[in-house]
Amino acid sequence: MSETYELSCDCGRVTMTAHGDPELSLYCHCGSCRALYSTDMLSATGWADDNVDLPDESKMFVHKMDGKDMTRYGCPKCGMTMYGRHKPGIPVIPHGVFRKANGGKLPAALTPTLHLFYRERVIDVDDDLEKSQGGEAVGLKS
Ligand SMILES: [Zn+2]
Ligand SMILES: [Zn+2]
Repeated sequence: MSETYELSCDCGRVTMTAHGDPELSLYCHCGSCRALYSTDMLSATGWADDNVDLPDESKMFVHKMDGKDMTRYGCPKCGMTMYGRHKPGIPVIPHGVFRKANGGKLPAALTPTLHLFYRERVIDVDDDLEKSQGGEAVGLKS
């Protein structure tokens, strides 16, 4: 079974697809993700390049974070964030992009499995998922 997710920004100008299963689905608390996405915790999936069909970068707005190898891509018209590229080196698509395409629900196959860089958190989360203090759970240096 191979699911295909048809994703689009708020205004519909940017569309992209993801198919199959993500490599990762998690919550990241690291300071870099928090800064890149202007959020207290990033809730997102990571995909193999072969499993996503991303828009041409020249058609996107690009937010490259100063001094870091962290980039966020969004729609140049409505401004909605569509994906990012940063550690662990694969396209990262926020859960919210899938929720928007799925009536507000996160598809069950994308249910997050852990918290990453929990020691850098600014909010505590009381759930049953593994709390990885650094990035070792996905092969990153902690
Ligand atoms: Zn748009
Ligand atoms: Zn992070």
